[in-house]
Amino acid sequence: MLDCIFCKIIKKELPAEIVYEDEKTIVFRDIHPKAPIHLLVVSKEHLPTINDLKTENSEFAGNLILVAKKVAEKEGFLSEGYKLVFNVGRGAGQLIDHIHLHILSGGYHRPLSEI
Ligand code: 5GP
Ligand code: ZN
Repeated sequence: MLDCIFCKIIKKELPAEIVYEDEKTIVFRDIHPKAPIHLLVVSKEHLPTINDLKTENSEFAGNLILVAKKVAEKEGFLSEGYKLVFNVGRGAGQLIDHIHLHILSGGYHRPLSEI
């Protein structure tokens, strides 16, 4: 997708603070963190929202969650705890139409309505 910010980060056409990368996934710090630790787990394949997933995408979806856990361990907040959030659609606050999983951690917790 030519005008997708996350596709540009994946292609290294835009800068980001990348904390993890493999052949299917990239994880970088959110530019406007909503918690002391705020990371985005982004699939390298461009799919707009969770609503676009089909049964055959179950491995794709599961991979995002497993990468989140791996990064929580690597970054040292696995045992402290963390929140995983998919915003799905404008009404839920999704602004970037490229599937991404928010990881929020860092010592305090806000209700979902404030995220
Ligand atoms: P959404 O609201 O779509 O669920 O989440 C998009 C997230 O991407 C927001 O938390 C926003 O701060 C973050 N974001 C938007 N543009 C950029 C960018 O250019 N770089 C980075 N690192 N994060 C971004
Ligand atoms: Zn994209």
